Amino acid sequence: MKKIKVNLKKPSDRSYEILAEEGLLQKIGFLLKKYKHRRYAVIADSNVAAIYGKAILNQIRKAGFDSVLLTFRAGELSKNIKEAEKLLNQLAEHGLTRHDSVIALGGGVTGDLAGFVASTFMRGISLIHIPTSLLAMVDSSIGGKTGINLKYGKNLAGTFYQPEAVFIDPLALKTLPKNEYINGFAEIIKYSVIADKKLFRLLEKHSKKILARNTGIMNNIIIRCASIKASIIEKDETEKGERVILNYGHTVGHAIELFSKYKIEHGEAISMGMAIINKIGYKSGILKINDALRINKLLVSYNLPTSPYQYFKQKDLPEKLWQIMQKDKKMLNSKIHFVIPNSIGKTTINNQVNKENFLKCISSLSKW
Ligand code: ADP
Ligand code: ZN
Repeated sequence: MKKIKVNLKKPSDRSYEILAEEGLLQKIGFLLKKYKHRRYAVIADSNVAAIYGKAILNQIRKAGFDSVLLTFRAGELSKNIKEAEKLLNQLAEHGLTRHDSVIALGGGVTGDLAGFVASTFMRGISLIHIPTSLLAMVDSSIGGKTGINLKYGKNLAGTFYQPEAVFIDPLALKTLPKNEYINGFAEIIKYSVIADKKLFRLLEKHSKKILARNTGIMNNIIIRCASIKASIIEKDETEKGERVILNYGHTVGHAIELFSKYKIEHGEAISMGMAIINKIGYKSGILKINDALRINKLLVSYNLPTSPYQYFKQKDLPEKLWQIMQKDKKMLNSKIHFVIPNSIGKTTINNQVNKENFLKCISSLSKW
C-alpha cells in the first residue's frame, strides 16, 4: 500500500494520510478500524451509489460499524444549498453525532458537497474521502476545499476543511466513463508541467498503456500527483501564496468554462487554458517554443483540446474571455495571476500580461 502523509500542524494538528492501492475498496472496513468512529454516513451520487454503494456498506458493517448510505442526483447541479440542507437533515435524522464520520464516496462533486456538509454538521464532524473519479483522486479530494454553487457562480460558498483520511482505489477507474477519465489528465499534465519533469516524460512515453487504464501505472501517477499537491498545500493551506501555482491553466480555463455556460468540462477548459498560457509564455519570452509545443502535443495525445476555436466560432472570443477575467479579478480584489511555465517542471507567477498581448495570442493561436 502506498502512503502519503499530509503534514498540517498549525494552528492545530490536522495531519492526515492518503492511502492508495489496487483493491483497497475491499478492505475499507478494516482500514476504518483505526479511526474509532461509531457510525458512518456514506454520501454518494446516484451513479456511484449504484455501482459501489452496497458493497461499501457491507464492508463497513462487516467490520462492526453502523452505516447508512445517503444519495443525491449525479451532476454539478446538485452542488446547491438545498441539497446540502437535505443531507444535513438526513445526518440528524439518522442520529449522527460528533463521534461519527461522513464518507464522501465519488467524484469532485460529491467531495465538495459532502465535504461542505461534514464541515458544517454540528460545527464539523470527521470527513473521509474515497475519490472514485480520476479528477477527484489526483486533485479535488486533497487540499481541504469544500464548496457549493450559488446563483452568482461556482463554489461561492464553502469551507477549508481537511479530511481525516483519503483512500484511493485505482480499480474504481475501470467503471469511469471515458470522457471523465480523459478529463482527469488535464490536471495530471498540469502537475507534471508545474513540478515533475519525470512524470511528464512518463506520460509521454506510456500514453497507450495509460489510456488503456493500466491500474498499476495509474497507481503510481496518482501517488505522484497527490504528493505534489500535498507538499504544496502543506506550505500554503489557504491559497495565500505558493498554492496559486496549482492554477496553471485555470485563470483562462475558468473564463472558458463560464463563457460556455459550463457546457465545456473543467478538464477540457483548463487544457485549453494551459495551451493558451503556453503561447503567452512563449510570446513573453518566458517559455521556449520547443517546451510549449511539447506540452501542447502531450495534451493532444490524451485527447484533450488545445484551442477554444474547436468549440466556438465567435470572432470576439478573446475579448469576451478577457472581460470575464477582469470580472473575476474584481471579485477577488486582486491582480490576475498568470501561472506560466519557465520550462517543463518549473513555473513562475506573472501579473504583467496586458490586454493587447492576450488578445493577440488567442486570435492567432495556431501561428507561432
Ligand atoms: P468530477 O469528479 O469530474 O469533479 P463528478 O463528481 O460529477 O465530477 O464525477 C463525474 C461523473 O463520473 C459523475 O457522473 C459521477 O457519477 C461519475 N463517476 C465518478 N466516479 C465513478 C466511477 N468510479 N465509476 C463510474 N462513474 C463514476
Ligand atoms: Zn482544476
